[in-house]
This record gives sequence, C-alpha cells and structure tokens, in this order.
Amino acid sequence: MRQRVIPGTSGTVRTMSLLGDPVLHSPCAEVTDFGPALGALVEDMFATMYAAEGVGLAANQIGVGLRVFVYDCPDDEDVRHVGHVVNPRLVEAGGDEYLGPEGCLSLPGLEAGTPRFDRAVVEGATADGAPVRITGTGFFARCLQHECDHLEGAVYAQRVTGMRGRRLRRAIRRTPWGARGLHALED
Ligand SMILES: [Zn+2]
Repeated sequence: MRQRVIPGTSGTVRTMSLLGDPVLHSPCAEVTDFGPALGALVEDMFATMYAAEGVGLAANQIGVGLRVFVYDCPDDEDVRHVGHVVNPRLVEAGGDEYLGPEGCLSLPGLEAGTPRFDRAVVEGATADGAPVRITGTGFFARCLQHECDHLEGAVYAQRVTGMRGRRLRRAIRRTPWGARGLHALED
C-alpha cells in the first residue's frame, strides 16, 4: 500500500514575516514556474506552519511574494482540511457574514473578532499544475478568506474596525514589532 506523504516533513522551517514587513503589505505575484522549487516552497510552508501551530500560511509570511497558501484547518463540524493552492482566486464568498475570533502567525499572540463570510470557494492549481477547487464553510471558510487577503497584501487587522479595531491597535503597539506594524496598517 502506498503511504500518503505527510506534508512538510521534507521542508525547512523558515523565518516568519511580521506585521510591518513590506512583503506582507504588497500584492503577491502569480506563479508561472511550476518546477521543483515550487514543491519545495510548499513543503517549507507546511513545515513553518506546523512549527508555529498555525492553521494556514501564505507564502509572503515566509518572505516569498508568490501567490501560494497552505492550510491544515478544521471547519465548524470538526472536519479537517489539509492542502495547498497556487494562484488562488476567491470565486465565491457568501452566506452570512459573522464576527469570529481570528489570529495570524504574523501578528503573534493577538486575536480579534473579524467579520467573514460563512462560505468561501477558492479555485487555483496544485504545485503540479492540476486545477483545484476548494469549498469551505465556517472556520475553514474564514481561513480561506484570510489567506486570500494575505496574497493581496492585506492582513485581518485591516478588517477589524470600531472599538475592536482600537483595542487591537493598542495591543499591537505594545508588541516589539508594533511601531512598524501600526505604520503599515495606516498606509
Ligand atoms: Zn495570517
């Protein structure tokens, strides 16, 4: 029987980009080269995501400005979703919009209620160039929207407004990376 390879086992844990790092705040480029380096990037992304105990990671979070993200994320029914997508397009985001707790490996230690749609559909390709379509609901839909935002150069904190937004910005200011981070949010 062929064993399924666990993603990330051949990858290297890379340094996490933090809020304020320019690579997080500009749109990522389309992938055009589906060579072996792309598979290696996906492996490094899984290794880094697992080391940081995250549920999703975009390539620019390890300093690579390419349109790729990985995930290992439960939905609200506790179904686990594991995979990666290259050149994703958020083709559908619908259902109810609701506030739920959201955090990000690039804003470590922080969390805030963030509005997201309950259902999301992403289309793209695998690292081998095969087309993929990913449908998510609940927390996994939140993850898909969060990772798509990263590839556009956006972070969840930009969607947190009002009192929650002010509270989050105060918490950011108290972190070691906060001054740079806040500056990036205001641009
Ligand atoms: Zn994030």
